[in-house]
Amino acid sequence: MSTGATPPAKRRKIDFIEAIVVLVGEAENRFVVHQNVLCTSSNFFRKAIEGSWKEGEEKQVRLKEAEVSSFEIYIAWLYTGTLEICGEDKVEGCTRNSKYYKCVGEAAQMGDFLEDRNFSNALVDELLSVMRPGGRVPQPPLIQTAYDMLPHKCGLCRLLVDFYSCYAKGAWFEHHADQIPTEFMTDIAMAAIRERQMALRDRFPMNRERCFYHEHKDDTDKCT
Ligand SMILES: [Zn+2]
Repeated sequence: MSTGATPPAKRRKIDFIEAIVVLVGEAENRFVVHQNVLCTSSNFFRKAIEGSWKEGEEKQVRLKEAEVSSFEIYIAWLYTGTLEICGEDKVEGCTRNSKYYKCVGEAAQMGDFLEDRNFSNALVDELLSVMRPGGRVPQPPLIQTAYDMLPHKCGLCRLLVDFYSCYAKGAWFEHHADQIPTEFMTDIAMAAIRERQMALRDRFPMNRERCFYHEHKDDTDKCT
């Protein structure tokens, strides 16, 4: 006979217990990361762990081509929400050297591979925070990495195009002519033609709306 009492709620599995082992680079550097943290943010990991895993089997994902330093930046960002591009090398002015921009480029490549929009957007915000007219501009290695490794329509490539289109001087292009991808120059020309009716001030990347260079699923996914 039923007592009529409400049965206890089914206990839900706590996802933070589950972990994934990620082996990074040729040397297979081992990272143990909470499955829930990875899969909430990265489509790549969500798809990677969908396969059938045997009971008690360790879930392992290999990122053979990845840079360990980029994965460290990614994991730190996942857990803290903060980007530490320079890491231990962080000193006054570190955002002005080419190593910083190389790290940003490699991290952007990681974000694209892992299909993590929020991470890619955070890198765009990071660049926007350091790019200032009259200051140093992103160095050629970042443009080369972006144009070699990322979709040219992504937010970071569009940001670079707009920044150079608005601020870079002819002398800079002449000095670095042999390091600048032809497609990048074409995109700069196309941006200048497409937006030539706009006031220059409205074309400044810092004056665009916040999500202009972000990638979002739809309007409800936008930052604000
Ligand atoms: Zn946004």
